[in-house]
Amino acid sequence: MFWHLVLTDECNLCCSYCRAKAFEPGAEPSLPFEYDPEVPVELAVDPAELAAFLARDPEPTLTFYGGEPLLRADLIEEIMDLVPGCRFMLQTNGLLLDRLSPHVLQRFHTVLVSIDGPEALTDQHRGQGVYARVVANVGRLIDAGFNGELIARMTVDEATEIVEAVLHCDALPFSGIHWQLDANFWGDYDRRDFSGWVEGSYNPGIRRLLEIWVERIEAGRVPRWYPFLDTTWDLLAGRSSLLRCGSGHANYTIQTDGRIVPCPIMTGMSDHYLGHIRDTDPLRLPHVMVPGDCPGCEIVNFCGGRCLYSAVTQPWPPEHRALVCGTVRNLHDALVQVLPRVQASLDDGTVLLEDFAHVKYNGCEIIP
Ligand code: SF4
Ligand code: SF4
Repeated sequence: MFWHLVLTDECNLCCSYCRAKAFEPGAEPSLPFEYDPEVPVELAVDPAELAAFLARDPEPTLTFYGGEPLLRADLIEEIMDLVPGCRFMLQTNGLLLDRLSPHVLQRFHTVLVSIDGPEALTDQHRGQGVYARVVANVGRLIDAGFNGELIARMTVDEATEIVEAVLHCDALPFSGIHWQLDANFWGDYDRRDFSGWVEGSYNPGIRRLLEIWVERIEAGRVPRWYPFLDTTWDLLAGRSSLLRCGSGHANYTIQTDGRIVPCPIMTGMSDHYLGHIRDTDPLRLPHVMVPGDCPGCEIVNFCGGRCLYSAVTQPWPPEHRALVCGTVRNLHDALVQVLPRVQASLDDGTVLLEDFAHVKYNGCEIIP
């Protein structure tokens, strides 16, 4: 099972598509769901209790999450030592990676670092000087001997030219890239030009990017661009997928008080509490189904429902959510179109099926 552990809700950044949304003019004054005000900001569970819970899972993967988890770097090594046999991952903004010793860094299977593409774009979203510090810390991570999966996690919006942004990250020393749309996450649709950007830039950009991806496969290398990699691996195998981030069926989140929720963004959403690590069997958690129109959608086996949080909270009205589904449709149709070329590269031995293999539910949502 995959677990996110929220070490702290504090963050040392205030990114434009994340916390800064709450300070925008016209930001929604009330939340469209019950929010539990008692959830502590800092991890308040006994690490030994956490270890006892994870010990009941024969194959645990624990992703340290926040806020910014490296603000509680002091807890990471302590928890690692308590859970032998666990696979560890880290999702970080990258500013404080130098707080972990090389010995600790080498214990991570996967590290996901937030970066949005070129320096000007990243700093526009995340703050002046952030790009330079993140790139320097990624270099230190590699110098420290880290040889696991190192994923650039991009958030993309109307400021993003997707081909340029992905190719920029591809030229940095990451082993994989994932990107996520800032869409249907906050009641901000009326203040944006999402429709114009999707039709004029993002959707055509995905098709151009996919062409580059396939050309590289035909040249003998499979770039680990997760929205293409995971979906193509399944299309090649004829596999359908539930929610591709794993939330609510393979991936659960332990919030700071030990309660369990389906996804890290649903921390404090008390209507969706699934139990507490104190008295819940980690292997008997309920499967949470994506509500809404998804069950009747003809590409649901490809998409999986995209995002449980968005489906529950529905921050955008139906006609605007349809635009987001249109991006999934565009991705699906473009992948199906190039699949014969990918298959031909497999058939003639240019690449191997194992070149597409990866750990699913590793913090990449897959469907942007
Ligand atoms: S494309 Fe839209 S409606 Fe279809 S499964 Fe995905 S999120 Fe649901
Ligand atoms: S895609 Fe949605 S449900 Fe999945 S982890 Fe992200 S916010 Fe949660």
